[in-house]
Amino acid sequence: MKHFILVPDGAADWANPALGGKTPLQAAELANINALAAVSEVGSVQTIPDGIDPGSDAANIAILGYNPKTVLTGRAPLEAAAMGIPMREGETAFRASLVTLEGNGAYEDLLVKDHSAGDINDEDARSVITRIDRELGSENLRFYPGVSYRCLMIAKRINAEEKITPPHDILGRRVGDYLPAEPEIRRLMERGYAILKDGETAANAIWLWGQGKKPSLPPLSERYGVKGCMVAAVNLLKGIGRCAGLTCPDIPGATGTLHTNYGAKAECAVSAFREGADFVFLHVEAPDECAHSGDMDGKLRSLKHIDQEVLLPVLTYLKNSGNPFRILILPDHRTPLELRTHTSEPVPFLLYDSKNPLPPDGSRVFSEVCGERGAFLPSGEALADRFFGGSQG
Ligand SMILES: [Zn+2]
Repeated sequence: MKHFILVPDGAADWANPALGGKTPLQAAELANINALAAVSEVGSVQTIPDGIDPGSDAANIAILGYNPKTVLTGRAPLEAAAMGIPMREGETAFRASLVTLEGNGAYEDLLVKDHSAGDINDEDARSVITRIDRELGSENLRFYPGVSYRCLMIAKRINAEEKITPPHDILGRRVGDYLPAEPEIRRLMERGYAILKDGETAANAIWLWGQGKKPSLPPLSERYGVKGCMVAAVNLLKGIGRCAGLTCPDIPGATGTLHTNYGAKAECAVSAFREGADFVFLHVEAPDECAHSGDMDGKLRSLKHIDQEVLLPVLTYLKNSGNPFRILILPDHRTPLELRTHTSEPVPFLLYDSKNPLPPDGSRVFSEVCGERGAFLPSGEALADRFFGGSQG
């Protein structure tokens, strides 16, 4: 049995007046996904447990069947794992996001303009973070480049207990209202701005958040008996994959944006299956990024790309391979365009089993509304148990 999970990040949304009251999933062209929905179970699942912030880290860990409440310590250590950055005993990893602040007053009165520094490219990001490391780094404090704006800081002896608001949640808001209480972290952020404010890129500051110690996830091979592969552009997902014992190949042209190389991701999934993987987890960041930017058209286009350039080739391969297979499609969480940030509400899922397809029903589509009409599963773990259950060997 082959297993394929497809996660269009943040695709679930709310009914939107600009779409005639439809959600983006309802409004997007999803011919292939909806043809599959007609013969699949469509339900909804609570990926984000009560009391946990609706981050992609918690949500994707849940989709893999782990309980975010017990294994999650923050997204930065997962990204460090993805990048092969060693973390020593007692160290804490922070996301050092490259951001754009705007305004002319004191640091605290500036506004958060862009959480991605204009989707800064890897090369510029590397030169910016290298400069930060040169000025602020020490034996106990190191900065590393990541994908685009997603850089990292590894720190020793810093009080990192508090939760710091992610920059994508405070677009247009005043910096001073969201700075962490810990003076050392505040100092580093303010120094970052002093160093970068007159630079040549849109990255004029760093925002430290998402910190944690290294997590331990029991491998999926032990848990569900599957050998698998994580196909993702962003380091957060690669880190989750590595920690769960999945291989995480680099994919040419996969950027985590609307302009990612969708076809290359599908090819990577197909190669992994061909080379013997039982399980592929394919994550596409684009719908979430578009929703954070309030880009409705981009969100719709990214969903169409996923339908045509990701699902279709993988589904075609699986159908032709002769092996029985299951496909699970679900967003990790909702990112309503209206809010431009994540929510904790349940998300729709689509579960197809080639051995037990449901009788065709054209009214069953992949949408929030259809999901609510179907089965409700209380956790990612319940869904993973159902998806992997009874199919080993
Ligand atoms: Zn997400």
